Amino acid sequence: MQIPNRLLMGPGPSNVTPDVLDALSQPTIGHLDPVFQSLMEEVKDLLRYAFQTSNAMTFPISAPASLAMEAALVNLIEPGDTALIVQNGVFGGRMADIAARAGANVVLLAFDWGTPICLETVERAIRQYPQARLLSFVHAETSTGVRSDAASLCKLAHDAGILSVVDTVTGLGGVPVAVDDWQADVVYSGTQKCLSVPPGLAPITFSEKAVQGIRSRKTKVQSWFMDLNLVLGYWSGEGGRSYHHTAPVNAIYGLARGLADLKAEGLEASWERHRRMHLRLAEGLRNLGLDFLVEEEHRLPQLNTVVVPADINEAFVRSKLLMDQGIEIGAGLGTLAGKVWRIGLMGHTARAENVDRLIGALEEALAEARRRAVA
Ligand SMILES: *Cc1c(COP(=O)(O)O)cnc(C)c1O
Repeated sequence: MQIPNRLLMGPGPSNVTPDVLDALSQPTIGHLDPVFQSLMEEVKDLLRYAFQTSNAMTFPISAPASLAMEAALVNLIEPGDTALIVQNGVFGGRMADIAARAGANVVLLAFDWGTPICLETVERAIRQYPQARLLSFVHAETSTGVRSDAASLCKLAHDAGILSVVDTVTGLGGVPVAVDDWQADVVYSGTQKCLSVPPGLAPITFSEKAVQGIRSRKTKVQSWFMDLNLVLGYWSGEGGRSYHHTAPVNAIYGLARGLADLKAEGLEASWERHRRMHLRLAEGLRNLGLDFLVEEEHRLPQLNTVVVPADINEAFVRSKLLMDQGIEIGAGLGTLAGKVWRIGLMGHTARAENVDRLIGALEEALAEARRRAVA
């Protein structure tokens, strides 16, 4: 099948660089081959750079990011544990579902979609549930375009002796993530957002405290595949690597290349590029008379939630962009369905020529939608 070239400006996947695509097509070798093992070490080091951590247990899970979310929670939770789960969009809701299935008593801290997590409310909940095992939240909510204060949330958990679980699937590479400075316990991401690597792998990092907690569980982790105690035999290389599952060898080539590119650009430069492209987009949107859902100070540069004007058919505009211009933007999810568009400026997509192309195409699509509404 001939796959079209799309400009991917939705909530992920983002556009993949040609050198990552080249890396993916190198010859497949055995996953226990010494050459592949040294590549694994390289990937772990590059991930430590991306996450800004010295955590030994830092590696990519062989699965999409949702499985990293699940791995974080099922490894930390034992049946009967209290889990403080924050929800200010779609992904916090998914965390609550996973935690409940793992047998946790879930305390859900819910906030309006489009707003950041309120620190005072979380602080109060931590005081009310001192026995809680963990606090789990989303740093960069892709469903709403909101950034929350991960550093302060992790500090609240850390000071109370509670483990923190941070979803920064959309954050990593696009906005500052500092796992060690935050003293965060489990932090995970995905490849297909600001890392510009195809979907299917999920970088994750565990603090020493989290690893100790997992090693001293009273019950077995409910999932064989996600049980960190077993996975580590493969990824940690302690006492020689043992077979756990066949690593997605070629996908790891691609991740290694994408992470090396990020390091060559530099994290700070990457954050700055995302910020500048967001400002460029914001100016273009303003000229088209479009507004953001989220207040300026809480906006994610890499995920822009734009309010659909009352006179516009939102699905028509999206399909026009895709079918006529080859540009993908995202629809609203959950309570925001039909009300917003989600414009991603992630990774390789976050470049001036792409922003300008989208603004031009959007102007045309909006005019066409209005002509049709009148006709
Ligand atoms: C995309 C995303 C996920 C899920 O990633 P998948 O690779 O689709 O499983 C989880 N959390 C957030 C915040 C995301 O943006």
